[in-house]
Amino acid sequence: MSKFELVCVPTPSIGHLVPFCKFAEKLVDRDERLYVTILIIRPPTPWGSTIDAFIKRISSAPQGNRIRYITLAQIEPPSSEELAKSVEKYISLLIASYRPIVKDAIISNKSWPDTDSNPKIIGLVIDMFCTSMIDVANELDIPSYLFFTSGAAFLGFLFYLSVWDEQFGREFKPSDGDLNIAAYAHPVPSKFLPTFSFVKEGYDSFHNHGVRFKETKGILINTVEKFESHAVNSLASDPELPPVYTVGFLFNIEAQNDKGNSKSEDEEIMKWLDQQPPSSVLFLCFGSAGIFEPPQLIQMAIGLERSGVSFLWSIRPLVDAETTKLEEMLPEGFLERTKNRGIVCGWAPQVEILAHKATGAFVSHCGWNSTIESVWHGVPIATWPLYAEQHINAYQLVRDLEVAVELTLNYRMHDSDHSEIVKAEEMEKAIRHIMDRENPLRKRVKDMGEVCRNALMEGGSSFISLGRFIETILDS
Ligand code: UDP
Repeated sequence: MSKFELVCVPTPSIGHLVPFCKFAEKLVDRDERLYVTILIIRPPTPWGSTIDAFIKRISSAPQGNRIRYITLAQIEPPSSEELAKSVEKYISLLIASYRPIVKDAIISNKSWPDTDSNPKIIGLVIDMFCTSMIDVANELDIPSYLFFTSGAAFLGFLFYLSVWDEQFGREFKPSDGDLNIAAYAHPVPSKFLPTFSFVKEGYDSFHNHGVRFKETKGILINTVEKFESHAVNSLASDPELPPVYTVGFLFNIEAQNDKGNSKSEDEEIMKWLDQQPPSSVLFLCFGSAGIFEPPQLIQMAIGLERSGVSFLWSIRPLVDAETTKLEEMLPEGFLERTKNRGIVCGWAPQVEILAHKATGAFVSHCGWNSTIESVWHGVPIATWPLYAEQHINAYQLVRDLEVAVELTLNYRMHDSDHSEIVKAEEMEKAIRHIMDRENPLRKRVKDMGEVCRNALMEGGSSFISLGRFIETILDS
């Protein structure tokens, strides 16, 4: 039997590695001739240690012997001045500096265990920050493909950057007004654009990635066709783009914890949830990096308390905070007064919580993984974007897709000049609205969850799309 291999280069962060691993699992499950190598770039500390824990765990997982993870030798990262200018540019430079190492890893093609001959390499699958690796694919004369770990509409925004740049030749300003972006059903107010859009280095970096995506032979997206139908149609009908494959939602259905929570903490949370009535608990969690200054935390606590709902609130303290003690960060007596109806925790077993029948709604920063995990489980979202592309995701969820209510759309973490504190009253109002059992949005999200789960089943749109992709790569 002939054997074929895809080599993947994901961005080194959990939010990108997880969907890549799931993608690899789907590929080898679907065709026994396929092998996948995932090349891991180890980022500098402190990011590196979480990645290490993750790699250690997945490397020992029983996923057959046709997926392997190779951690590349670490090299000097770009300067911290680059990081201060733009994290997007920094990550792109870091990855670009690995080009010769990735090329060597592919050429040396270490032997696979338990096979008499190595599979034939038939493609390089890159992540959104990794377009520099298209050079490597070209030098080795292998086709490259993009696996886009965020949504189709955001991908459409990255293509829109060329349209904008041709006309204006500059980054955006929050005052640029409404933008007609083909991938969004409604005009997008520029104040809701991703944070990098307003910073020259970040804008240039993503503009360049968007241009280079078109050099690939195919684009796979971690979405479901019916969930983002407008965006997917707009991409699929663009003659300038390579074929588009919707293969989502790919995420870790089994909750994993690489952040060091003890098992008993997680068990305590789940035991508490077991005792709550169906759809009664509000879950608040803001991704791997979401943090708030103390004045904002206090307003959130007051809003939560006034709303009267039960809650599960994941809080991460500021790195340089004066105190990390919850009772000193939150209003006096808050923990005592709410102890019978709320839990405040650190890292939360998010997927398990969203899957629990007691969970009624999710106050989320609208990172793409959190979004798809919530929709998959039919849990409506109240939006609180913080950084990266979360603002445009939140806008899309509220306005285009109607699976979320707006709590805030323009709060920006680390931007005290522009970001206003969200007041307790706004918090309370949004919570009451989203937890209202009569709110039709709740049923819409439940139905959409079912649509998304069906997409991955045999005969579903994502199942078929992945099959088409496999046929294409094996034929070329
Ligand atoms: N996550 C979690 N517990 C937490 C915070 C986050 O399990 O307390 C997981 C969450 O389930 C998701 C990922 O971390 O899979 C966050 O990814 P997302 O794209 O939503 O946001 P990012 O962290 O990249 O901003």
